[in-house]
Amino acid sequence: MEKSTVKLDVLRFVGSNEFSSSTMKAMETVPRHRFVLVEQQIVAYENHPLPIGYGQTISQPYIVAFMTDILHIDAKHRILEVGTGSGYQAAILSEVAQEVYSIEVIKELADKAKRRLQEIEYTNVHTKLGDGYYGWDEYAPYDGIIVTAVSEKVPPPLVEQLKNNGRMIIPIGTEYTPQNLVLLTKNSKGITHTEHVLPVRFVPLTGRH
Ligand code: SAM
Repeated sequence: MEKSTVKLDVLRFVGSNEFSSSTMKAMETVPRHRFVLVEQQIVAYENHPLPIGYGQTISQPYIVAFMTDILHIDAKHRILEVGTGSGYQAAILSEVAQEVYSIEVIKELADKAKRRLQEIEYTNVHTKLGDGYYGWDEYAPYDGIIVTAVSEKVPPPLVEQLKNNGRMIIPIGTEYTPQNLVLLTKNSKGITHTEHVLPVRFVPLTGRH
């Protein structure tokens, strides 16, 4: 297994108290250079999004840490990710959760991420090709859901697939308008509450929906 202890430049920008120790440990453990294009490896540990082909990006490390941390994941949690992309966010989640289910709509990216995650032996990450708008009903409900592409509204199937007391983080907006990360929480009675937590910039949630 080629996991290494890496020092992300981003950790210098992040106040050490800002994120939990488990999020910080995951960020230090996952080898980001394995998830970027060969020609980008030299800048893999800088705090920037990078192109991964097919018009898509691997998110900025700070945002990956932020979205991971806000889900309050524990070692028994099952997490759904929409937008596998490079597989990096899924690898980070796999360091803190029990099982990770990740969906990607572009076949070439889905295949590449699956191979890469298998090579690095992230055995608790399960991937599939499909339109993540509909979630992954087979393994629902999830303790946490993370969407890494921007949507005009929260997809109702994802709300349904979130457990009571679960948390979802999703960018809301469009390609051409301001976008915000929205935290959606469900209480013990299944009542949802949303709040805007951070302005962001994401590629759009596509698919046949
Ligand atoms: N989480 C990724 C990573 O760690 O590399 C970065 C994700 S990138 C910002 C957004 C991804 O969402 C792209 O790979 C894109 O193809 C995917 N995507 C867009 N719409 C989707 C959909 N409806 N279902 C699943 N994936 C989708």
